[in-house]
Amino acid sequence: MMSALFPTYAKWEIQAEKGSGAVLTDVDGKEYLDFVAGIAVCNLGHCHPKVLASVEKQLEKLWHVSNLFQLEGQEKVAQMLVDHSVGDYVFFSNSGAEANEAAIKLARKATGKHHIVTLNQSFHGRTLGTMAATGQEKIHAGFGPLLQEFTYIDLNDIHALEEAVTNETAAVMVEVVQGEGGVCLMDQEFADALKKICEAYGCLLIIDEVQTGIGRTGTAFAYEQWGLSPDIFTLAKGLGNGFPVGAMVGKASLKDAFGPGSHGSTFGGNPLAMAAAEAVLTEVFAADMLKAVSAKGDWFMKKLEQHLASLSIVKEVRGIGLMIGIACEIEVAPMIKACREGGLLVLPAGPNVIRILPPLVVTEQQIESALAILVEVLTKTDNKQQIHA
Ligand SMILES: *Cc1c(COP(=O)(O)O)cnc(C)c1O
Repeated sequence: MMSALFPTYAKWEIQAEKGSGAVLTDVDGKEYLDFVAGIAVCNLGHCHPKVLASVEKQLEKLWHVSNLFQLEGQEKVAQMLVDHSVGDYVFFSNSGAEANEAAIKLARKATGKHHIVTLNQSFHGRTLGTMAATGQEKIHAGFGPLLQEFTYIDLNDIHALEEAVTNETAAVMVEVVQGEGGVCLMDQEFADALKKICEAYGCLLIIDEVQTGIGRTGTAFAYEQWGLSPDIFTLAKGLGNGFPVGAMVGKASLKDAFGPGSHGSTFGGNPLAMAAAEAVLTEVFAADMLKAVSAKGDWFMKKLEQHLASLSIVKEVRGIGLMIGIACEIEVAPMIKACREGGLLVLPAGPNVIRILPPLVVTEQQIESALAILVEVLTKTDNKQQIHA
């Protein structure tokens, strides 16, 4: 296809026209089960009626005035975030990378140091700062020199963590479940060590919840399930259900480091974004929502294990809540394409992992349908491998 776009994305062949819940319809009327959800963005499904109504109402009142004004929406959303988390203050951005930039800047300013420890296979964004924080060479390639000074260690390598953190370390920045890196979960022992080491050296713990936050893993924020209490955590993807918005949440001790004039954003926390976020948080924090995410996720993962564990191409089914990975022995791209052709949208995470991120409102029946397609595609692929072997 002729296109005037920079070819930065390996695009799919689908042109989506409309969406409702977990179902996406393309311009030819073909329906797909959307277990990508805009990459963990549309957690409440496409065109959620409450989010739609909230944004529509705001559209008719006021779109933008800048952060020079008192903004009731920001106050409300910030209060909801701090009421449901270990944080005390919120800064709004437009994206995950910007939320992480704010976290890196705040960590530097609050500590007066600039050494930050991050993980290999992490993903924190594409700006110059967050790209340097990201421990993946393929994301750095051609863009150097990188922002100083990051040390990358392997997830769950406690010894490497002990070696990397010094008195000169401003922060350790991690995802508790690496999304882009392959749906890799942090060990509890590593989380415990992280807590201890950050306390011992007085460095900040930053948790990137851009993908794991907003109910994705079955709790409001994933760090809860590891008993962690980050000094700073960041949000974006699921916060606006498709309306661009991000947030950095920090503890009270950091307040003075981010005084007037220290940081900012023209669009960050704009009234439309806040209308979306307020409706999203109201839904996600509602009584039974998160329990249902855990229950559906556990059931889905158990079924996947039952049906796929015997296949020789499958290494492991892993995940938490509705963030699930099928780690394979082979490259997954052809299987993801076959799922798409069968009417199911799923994602890769690295070359060998199929990543599954349905909207949190997915029904059991939709999970069953998705399961049937996955089992068929993976079983067929496995059979072919056996023949070729
Ligand atoms: C997607 C993602 C980001 C980057 O968010 P953008 O909105 O694309 O800038 C950062 N961290 C994690 C963990 C992510 O999954």
